Parts: sequence; structure tokens; C-alpha cells
Amino acid sequence: MNTSGSPTVSESGVMIVGGGLVGASLAIALDAAGIAATLVESAAPRADAQPSYDERNLALARATVNGLEAIGVWRHAAARATPIRHIHVSRAGEFGSARIDADRQGVDALGWTLPARELGAALLRRLDECTRLTRFAPATLSALEPLCAGWRAQIDTTEGIRAVDTPLLVGADGTGSFVRARLGIDAERHDYRQTLIVCTITPERDHANRAYERFADTGPIALLPLAERRCGLVLTVATDEADAVAALDDAGFIELAQRRFGWRLGRLSRPGKRHPHPIHRVAAAQLTAPRAVLVGNAAQTVHPIGAQGFNLGLRDALTLAELVTAAADPGDADLLARYAARRAPDREGTMAMSHGLVRLACLPQPLLAPLRSLALLACDRLPPLQRALAQRGMGFRGEPPLAVLERLP
Ligand SMILES: Cc1cc2nc3c(=O)[nH]c(=O)nc-3n(C[C@H](O)[C@H](O)[C@H](O)COP(=O)(O)OP(=O)(O)OC[C@H]3O[C@@H](n4cnc5c(N)ncnc54)[C@H](O)[C@@H]3O)c2cc1C
Repeated sequence: MNTSGSPTVSESGVMIVGGGLVGASLAIALDAAGIAATLVESAAPRADAQPSYDERNLALARATVNGLEAIGVWRHAAARATPIRHIHVSRAGEFGSARIDADRQGVDALGWTLPARELGAALLRRLDECTRLTRFAPATLSALEPLCAGWRAQIDTTEGIRAVDTPLLVGADGTGSFVRARLGIDAERHDYRQTLIVCTITPERDHANRAYERFADTGPIALLPLAERRCGLVLTVATDEADAVAALDDAGFIELAQRRFGWRLGRLSRPGKRHPHPIHRVAAAQLTAPRAVLVGNAAQTVHPIGAQGFNLGLRDALTLAELVTAAADPGDADLLARYAARRAPDREGTMAMSHGLVRLACLPQPLLAPLRSLALLACDRLPPLQRALAQRGMGFRGEPPLAVLERLP
């Protein structure tokens, strides 16, 4: 505070609001490129304090892992990750399934699974190595005031209120984004009326590094390969049934999971602690405002069953870092227009895919069944279609940021 009682104003480079998976990745990418930035995060800097550094098991696309390697995060996480070498997609009660194999695509892995808690811990370790980054955590952005060439942010910290001026404000503050609301950017919302139950489980047979996605009228179920022969289970239930499913004992829950997943991996057993996640789709009407930009879930929150949210958000962050690194003024209107144009195809394609997948694969429309089965068979048997799907699945979409591209040996 100064003598007039208002907070002392300091200057910042790019200001990132939200140090979740995407905001933290952006802060690290900017620091690695020599750009000064400020990161403001409401939670204390501990993996167990951050809301999204939790027990969910993330399927990280190959492009994502390339990007995390490029910004020096992966070396802190690799030992805890499990490679996905095969993907198997099917629908209960219908013929046809689609399989994608890493060796047929000429890669060692299509992606990796990693608990979000472990990725969070790796990001926190990498953040500690940053030299040009100012971090406020726990601290909350509580007000914004427009300036002629940027924004003045009011930040509530444990030591009192701070005012910081920035030429570029980045909203990485998640689905309910305060930044998005303060910028006056509308968001389209869709409530899937579904809840995802996430836990670990042990199958009788070895998962052999295969990820399974199985669709049914009642919603999708996924099984992701984890270390020590465990699997990450993602079970979708209607939200009005979520309390009843939460109340099931372990035997009742296993019975439900087995019925929904089938017997491909033999008997399922030893369910871990179950975590419910209600599912919404939220899409910002625009990605930018004068000297401001949205990334990650603040820009778009997609249905998690396609395992795209963080993968897409990291491509937001790395594209923004790439453009800012090459610019004299990070909040320049042309730069922001280029950012929005470059992200549009990936963003729209991924959102449409995630939403379409849930609707097409889960809705009980008997007339669609043969078409769906044929589509799955086509994906399985037609190499060009399979290659295109695999490339997208591995996260190489639109005009990807340079950091996610394959490096030549
Ligand atoms: C069950 C489940 C499974 C998933 N599986 C996958 C998967 O397999 N693959 C994948 O790619 N994605 C997956 N996702 C999606 C992925 O978890 C999200 O896309 C990702 O966490 C979004 O990161 P974010 O940083 O944009 O937002 P968040 O993780 O929500 O972070 C936002 C941060 O902003 C902070 N914040 C909010 N407001 C303020 C404020 N005013 N001031 C300061 N800080 C603030 C919050 O504390 C928080 O830390 C899954 C999601 C769920 C729910």
C-alpha cells in the first residue's frame, strides 16, 4: 500500500491467471523462451492443494509429450508414465471395432497415461527452476481495470492486495473463468447430465499397454493402462444415478464396471477410491479481447471421454508462447488475431469430435447401429482413414505449435 491507501502498482510482462495444467505449462514455456511473465494461482503451490492436480488419469497424446519434453517438464514425469501402444474402440452390442497400433503407425507409443497429480508435481518442480517468472500463489485475481495498452490486475495475496499492470492478460483460470466473465466474453454451455466416476482398478489379464474405449447407450467407459498392471477406469453414469453409484460397495461397483466394460481383460477387481466429475461443455464465444486471450478450459471445456482437454489446452499454450516469443509487443492486436486464426481449426475440430463422439456413440438410436459398426470397421480396415485418425489422436492437428512436432533422431 502507498500513503494514499491504494496498493502500489508494479509492472509485469505477460500475466497468466490460473496455474492449473495449462497455465503452468504456458508460464514454463515463456520462461524457457526467455520471456518474463507473472503467474497468479489461487491454490497453494502443492500438488495436493491444486484442484485439477488430482486422481484423474490423463491420456497424454504423443504431441503433448513432445511438447512437455521441449519445455523441460517430461523429465520430471516420464518415470511415472505408462506408454499406450494400442487403442481399441468398440460399442456394446454391435459388431465392428477399431484398433490403432503404434507399430503400424511407425511410432514407439501413441501416447502415455499419467495421473494428473504426477503431472502437477512435475509442473511444480519445473516452475521452481524458472528464472524469469514471478509467482503469486496462493493469490487470486479479484478485479481488472483496462489501461490504454494493457490491464491493471488486482491480486489478493496472503500479504495484502497488489496491483500489477500487464500488456497481455492470459485467462488460464479454468471452466468458470473469472477473466472470461470480466472481459465480457460469452460462453455457450451444455450440460451432458453425465458424471464421470474415476478410479483405478486391477484386471485379471495384463493390459499389454492397450487403452480401451467402449460406448454404450448408458454412456462411455474407458480403461487406460497404468503401471504395475493397474488400469485407470473412467465410467460414465447419468448424473441422477451418480449418488446411487457412489453408494455402491466395492463388489456392487465392480459388478457395474464389469457389465459395462465386458470381459476383454478378464475379471476386474480392487477398485481404488472413486472420484465423481460432473460433465459440462463450455465454449467461449471468442478467444481474444483487446490485450487479452483465453487458453485451456477457460477457452473450451470438452467432454473428457475423448481425452482431449489438456492435450488441446497445451497446444493453446505452446502456440501462444511461440507467437509471443517472436513479437516485440505480446499484446499486439495482430498477434492476437493470428493466435485466434491459428487455433481455430484445431479447437473447432477437437470440440466437434469430442461432442460428436459422445452423441453418436452413446445415444440409443437403433437405426444408427449398422452405420456405426461400419464406421468402426472402416477405421479398422482402411489404412488412410486409420492413419488420419491416428495422427489426430496423437495430437497432430491443424497448424500445431513447433514444440509438439516430432524431432528427428
Ligand atoms: C475426469 C476427467 C478426466 C480427464 N481426462 C483427460 C485426459 O485423459 N486427457 C486430457 O487431455 N484431458 C483430460 N481431462 C481434461 C483436463 O483435466 C483439463 O482440460 C485440464 O485440467 C484443464 O487445465 P486448465 O489449466 O485449463 O484448467 P484448470 O485445471 O481448471 O486450472 C485452472 C486454475 O485456475 C485457478 N484459478 C481460477 N480462478 C482464479 C483466479 N481468479 N485467480 C487465480 N487463479 C485462479 C484454479 O485454482 C486452477 O488451478 C480430464 C478431465 C476430467 C474432469
